Amino acid sequence: MRKPWNSDINIRDLIRPDILDIEEYIPLVPPEVWAKQMDIPLERIVKLDGNENPYGCSPRVQQALAEFQRYHRYPDTTHMEIRCLLEDYVGIDAQHIMVGNGSDELIDLLLRLLLVPGDKTINCIPTFGMYSFSTEICGGTVTKVTRTPGYDIDMDKVGAAVDDRTKIIFVASPNNPTGNAVPPETIRDLLALGPVVVVDEAYYEFCGTTVAPWITRYDNLIVLRTFSKWAGLAGLRVGYGLFPKEIIDHLWKIKPPYNVNIAAQIAVRESLIDLGYLRETVQAIVTERDRLFLKLKNIDYLLPLPSQANFIYVRLLQRQGLEVKERLKQDGILVRYFDTPLLRNGIRISVGRPADTDALIDKLTKG
Ligand SMILES: *Cc1c(COP(=O)(O)O)cnc(C)c1O
Repeated sequence: MRKPWNSDINIRDLIRPDILDIEEYIPLVPPEVWAKQMDIPLERIVKLDGNENPYGCSPRVQQALAEFQRYHRYPDTTHMEIRCLLEDYVGIDAQHIMVGNGSDELIDLLLRLLLVPGDKTINCIPTFGMYSFSTEICGGTVTKVTRTPGYDIDMDKVGAAVDDRTKIIFVASPNNPTGNAVPPETIRDLLALGPVVVVDEAYYEFCGTTVAPWITRYDNLIVLRTFSKWAGLAGLRVGYGLFPKEIIDHLWKIKPPYNVNIAAQIAVRESLIDLGYLRETVQAIVTERDRLFLKLKNIDYLLPLPSQANFIYVRLLQRQGLEVKERLKQDGILVRYFDTPLLRNGIRISVGRPADTDALIDKLTKG
């Protein structure tokens, strides 16, 4: 077909060269699709691959969303109501709080605010994938600093990696997928290095240690949290960040106005009103985590790492993790498999309900 405009233009040449170089993302098959393929009823799928809350969200959320009458109106762009509730929950003034479409969005916004092409971020690997993903999309370069063999932050190596193009140091605490938390003293040492330190506390509620109160003391500390894991709202996409004034004032300028939809805002409000219920499910998950850990430890070919989150990373000895994962999948049990230089032959198992643990352990012992 003849183009009515200059036909010398190749569409591919219009795409940013650095993005052409990024590898294509292979999306996970949703459990609904997979259940249909396998002819297993969806309720029978034991989904332990996404670190989601198996008990779901607060019943108050379900009810409020069903009764709400104003879905035809745009949401509040400043998320005032939930920021005020978060002020009580976190104990930090609302002027330091911004809410995002998942904490993933806040990672991306922050990078867009701070990075110009060629700037660097430091990533303490192995860790959560979004820090490097978003850094690259924002034109930055990721400096990978390997954690110690016990997956702690290697302070000497991080210190040596910081240079005058380094804008951000990312640390997940507890870390995904290894489950260990970063001691507050280490975070204090990282803050002394100068660049912005992002402490990702996505699993805070399962762990209990936080540096959130330090927000008013350091101008280079950012704490990220999410409602996806403990509050059972992964599908609605809400996270929040605690930021120093100097950063949040400029973040507001680049935030997409309607980034958090009205259903998500209602869900957060109802969750924060129903903390008693949510704390019970968090407690049930923590208790189950400890039971699951002991059961895994008793299986001779498994080496589980102690975890402060709602998942356990397990190293496989003498067996192929991929095969174990596939065999569990045939029985409707989904876990996450890792095989990278730093995470050789392992699986990450999200903590489910007691019956989920029993089904999993049964398969792992018989298999
Ligand atoms: C799951 C996870 C998040 C993502 O949170 P969303 O709010 O769902 O975007 C962020 N950080 C870590 C370490 C996670 O494991």
